[in-house]
Amino acid sequence: MASNSGTVVTRFAPSPTGFLHLGGARTALFNWLFARHHGGKVLLRIEDTDIKRSTQEAIDAILDGLDWLGITFDEEPVFQTARADRHAEVARKLLESGDAYKCYATAEELEVMRAEQRAAKQPLRYGGRWRDRAAEAEEEGKPYTVRLKTPDTGETVIEDAVQGRVTVANSEIDDYILLRADGTPTYMLAVVVDDHDMGCTHIIRGDDHLNNAFRQLPIIRAMDRIEGGWPDPVYAHVPLIHGADGAKLSKRHGAVGVDSYRDELGILPEALVNYLLRLGWAHGDREEIGRDEAIALFSLDGVGKSPSRFDLKKLMNLNGHYIREADDQRLAKLVAPRIGLPVDKDLLQRAMPELKTRAKDLDELAEGAEFLFKKLPFDLTDKAEKLLDETGKQRLAAVHARLEGENDWTIPALEASLKEMAEELELGLGKLAQPLRAALTGTTTSPGIFDVLILLGRAESLARIHARLAHDGPA
Ligand code: GLU
Repeated sequence: MASNSGTVVTRFAPSPTGFLHLGGARTALFNWLFARHHGGKVLLRIEDTDIKRSTQEAIDAILDGLDWLGITFDEEPVFQTARADRHAEVARKLLESGDAYKCYATAEELEVMRAEQRAAKQPLRYGGRWRDRAAEAEEEGKPYTVRLKTPDTGETVIEDAVQGRVTVANSEIDDYILLRADGTPTYMLAVVVDDHDMGCTHIIRGDDHLNNAFRQLPIIRAMDRIEGGWPDPVYAHVPLIHGADGAKLSKRHGAVGVDSYRDELGILPEALVNYLLRLGWAHGDREEIGRDEAIALFSLDGVGKSPSRFDLKKLMNLNGHYIREADDQRLAKLVAPRIGLPVDKDLLQRAMPELKTRAKDLDELAEGAEFLFKKLPFDLTDKAEKLLDETGKQRLAAVHARLEGENDWTIPALEASLKEMAEELELGLGKLAQPLRAALTGTTTSPGIFDVLILLGRAESLARIHARLAHDGPA
């Protein structure tokens, strides 16, 4: 595999233990944008080493979510479990060079050690009991773990592209396990080896991994000493997303999986991408930034240092913006299955320019479109019924008579005709349009009344009005 050669290589490395959540999607997006901005590569690594918790379903959900968001990768995904031999090989190199050592401490011994540390109110960590000790004769042949010999004096400094300079005393970092007694690699080792072998130059991830960076760097530096070609990557640890209450975003805050934003909330991918971009990254006070512009503008400098708060209202506003911008045919396709009635796709598409001016999500669009596909007889909402009281019905009857005589079924002709009628009756146009809307749509909100008349057509419009007039009772 490649080593760092000057081109930017980033990666998204999800653990497939659940759906693609918003935080993960944003991390993927930042990696993607950064690589695209620099003309580099972005890679995908599925960190499936936690075999008990990793599922194929989660892998599929993550791939599906990324695909929906338009976050594409430049190579086939790397599966971490498939690389266990290579991870072990690196552990053995570290062992040979003396940068790692065999630890024969048993689980019971380690438990006693932790109990003592707990009692003495000391931090729980491996005390280094096998660090400078060769295996004694009776230990030979017994199971052992391989531990990294981390520096115990001095400090490690990371110039994080988001967090700035972060310093940790090396004494804080214990000699953690690289290879378990059964020979399987630990997550910490796997990440470092994979990042190197995939040629990653920039590690952009959640700041919950900042501590890990201080544990991962000693492996990188030891390997660089041993064989060269293991440069420090640039780290960029992005603050996590919080809910409106300031707590870390979790299920408690409602939808966290990208799929539920698509399926349940009817969000367009470009709206979510724009929202996630702005969640933690800023370019002045610009809110609406499309994909191409985002690629052109994205830089790690623009990533904020403090956690960002998730704001559903902002997301919905952006969604409204992107719905208005979206192609009508595409919208009709997305909206059709959300309408609980058989749909005429052409009609839906023709109605879209009017419908989309007033919707913030796909369900609102579906709701707004429903009237087009109702079949007589249909019920009216309570509010619509109220508009068809006695006066309302009288006006509707007059409108009916007028429209029946109307052969030029176009917006200008219908508009002129009803305006003239309103003047004759000395009424505002609204007084005629309201009962008409109630009869035509069964509701009180819809696109402009003339658009409704055109979309429904002459025959259907007259039939709907007639049905209402023939209807017994108040409406
Ligand atoms: N697999 C880790 C996660 O899903 C990310 C590890 C990394 O980016 O280094 O949180």
